Amino acid sequence: TPLLEITNLHVRLEDDPDVEILHGLSLTIQPGEVHSIMGPNGSGKSTLAQVLAGKEDYEITEGSILFKGEDITELGADERANSGLFLAFQYPVEIPGVSAMQFLKAAVNAKQAFEGKEELDAAQLLKHFREKASQINVPYEMLKRNVNEGFSGGEKKRFEIFQMAVLGSVLGVLDETDSGLDIDALRIVSEGVNSMRDQDRSFLLITHYQRLLDYIVPDHVHILAGGRIIRSGGKELATELEETGYAPFLQEHAGVA
Ligand code: ADP
Ligand code: MG
Ligand code: MG
Repeated sequence: TPLLEITNLHVRLEDDPDVEILHGLSLTIQPGEVHSIMGPNGSGKSTLAQVLAGKEDYEITEGSILFKGEDITELGADERANSGLFLAFQYPVEIPGVSAMQFLKAAVNAKQAFEGKEELDAAQLLKHFREKASQINVPYEMLKRNVNEGFSGGEKKRFEIFQMAVLGSVLGVLDETDSGLDIDALRIVSEGVNSMRDQDRSFLLITHYQRLLDYIVPDHVHILAGGRIIRSGGKELATELEETGYAPFLQEHAGVA
């Protein structure tokens, strides 16, 4: 079974049903694969990420999203997260007065409960966090600070990757956003992703720029334009895009459309 199977996805704005943003997007991610979706501004990249996260602003009018073979379109954001889907930005930017440690304990035990397993006690949680902290290179001290409060851009990214490791998520969806990451944050994200890559865990990297893919070599690259995937290829597609920009792809597509 594919880990993620999106078929003919059509998405409109909930508030303005005349506006369709995704027009029949299909994408299949097998366990262990790293896919990258690249596209110009306004092509629908973040919308796809938000729809995967279960954000309510969008309405799916056609098509399906299967995660581990099950339709997740009716599931809330928490249920998606508990079933192993990780979307970096779906977590609160800042949680005043809640330490990173408290936040993670709650998240891990929510997942345990979701799976019908017993809660982990303090000692088990600490052991788990220490193991993951050394894998992701998170200074243990960071966990005592409040979530994202005063975290640098790099620390926020490190914490996101750490959350994913701690939760044992099998699909990480990372939207780089158009502003992009600074070089430190890029390295941190990349090292984290690369250290977590294995035969069961997949990533969907959403990015406007090719830079991220200098650090994380994807198995498949897709170009999203105007709410559709207009081209798919291997990692060389990202290199080609770096050389030519989006224009030739958009023209070619306009020609056949
Ligand atoms: P990208 O991430 O590729 O830059 P987005 O998914 O953010 O693109 O946006 C795609 C298009 O949909 C844009 O024209 C954007 O203005 C529009 N759009 C996305 N979300 C909303 C929203 N919540 N309200 C209004 N327009 C939106
Ligand atoms: Mg269609
Ligand atoms: Mg975006």
